Amino acid sequence: MSNRTVPNDLSAFWMPFTANRQFKKAPRMFVAAKDMYYTTADGRQVLDGTAGLWCVNAGHCRPRITEAIQSQAAELDYAPAFQMGHPKAFELANRLVDIAPEGLNHVLFTNSGSESVETALKVALAYQRVKGEGARTRLIGRERAYHGVNFGGISVGGIVTNRKMFGTLLTGVDHMPHTHNLSKNAFSKGLPQHGVELADELERIITLHDASTIAAVIVEPVAGSTGVLIPPPNYLKRLREITKKHGILLIFDEVITGYGRLGTPFGADYFGVTPDIMVTAKGLTNGVIPMGAVMVSSEIHDAFMQGPEHVIEFFHGYTYSGNPIASAAGIATLETYKEEGLLTRGAELAPYWEEALHSLKGERHVIDIRNIGLVGAIELEPIAGSPTKRAFSAFVQAYEKGVLIRTTGDIIALSPPLIVEKSHIDTIVETIRGILKTLE
Ligand code: PMP
Repeated sequence: MSNRTVPNDLSAFWMPFTANRQFKKAPRMFVAAKDMYYTTADGRQVLDGTAGLWCVNAGHCRPRITEAIQSQAAELDYAPAFQMGHPKAFELANRLVDIAPEGLNHVLFTNSGSESVETALKVALAYQRVKGEGARTRLIGRERAYHGVNFGGISVGGIVTNRKMFGTLLTGVDHMPHTHNLSKNAFSKGLPQHGVELADELERIITLHDASTIAAVIVEPVAGSTGVLIPPPNYLKRLREITKKHGILLIFDEVITGYGRLGTPFGADYFGVTPDIMVTAKGLTNGVIPMGAVMVSSEIHDAFMQGPEHVIEFFHGYTYSGNPIASAAGIATLETYKEEGLLTRGAELAPYWEEALHSLKGERHVIDIRNIGLVGAIELEPIAGSPTKRAFSAFVQAYEKGVLIRTTGDIIALSPPLIVEKSHIDTIVETIRGILKTLE
């Protein structure tokens, strides 16, 4: 059976976040990929407007990454992650510290964004205890936040469909309001002007519970999965000031904004705000091998390094933390980003991207357009009584016309690989324009 043969029976695989019965009647399948394009099972080329799932930042099937994986797999396939080491994980950690915001000097490895979120929350809680502030157990997230699908992540996350089926979740969690204000900020280019005062909601929550009970605040610098919700200027700075003042840790979930998406290495760099803990995954290995990395400040790390030397400092980790093949993929990915200037390429292309996206203003159904770095969103008016249907129909049509877009609710989200050229941007935008003209 070739890599490209599609099985006749598709019933066994219960696909994630997918309408399985609908999908299996009319499956959409990719069998190959190269640079900016996927190849479908029926042999068509599809331009990748979403970097896979916001992760393939250097484009597809890059030889350096493929070769690094192959040679590592042939040399050292696996090493125990606990009480044993191998060079590649240490090398990758060093390279991450080199590109991370100053002060984030230590790295814990995971296998996904969701695991990175859980790891960050657990580091935060444990740190408060280690510091002698064990009463700080509350966590604060935000409405419309996506922090993966594990219990900590859905507890601090703010998406009702991801929460409502799963019981009481973590207790002791509060949510700040999200920053998306359609009536005041529609069609903003880059950062929206209104809403910095929403950061002060954090003060209100702190007053309600007392700072001495709060361990950490977690936010995505730009909320991606719920439709590219961009904060107003100084909003994140204000969160940083408030958290610092009250001894609360600030966690940035940079699973999407990390590794060049905003035209800077990390969202922290874009906004000039350094968190205490930074959660990453996706672009770390160009999406090729599951891996995440949580970067923490020296202050946090060093607090754990105080007890007797033979005692394990932090009871947490995964069989595959810092897996050799994933580490090799991560190193090759960071080398590719460096050599091709991809961590900052988004800044050069952002003005073109912005103008191209905003040229869709005035097309039918479009009620907002948002952009930052090489991310964008086009929000459509929902069909009354059938939310999500209009954007999903645009997604299916775009796939048929040869462009991969992503939808969340009635929002089209775009995040092409950072190797995108202007001509690709034109194709993405003109394909969407054509679809909007005929969309129900
Ligand atoms: N956090 C954020 C901000 C994300 O966007 C995502 C994935 N879209 C995750 C966490 C979860 O990552 P994963 O799917 O790798 O578990």
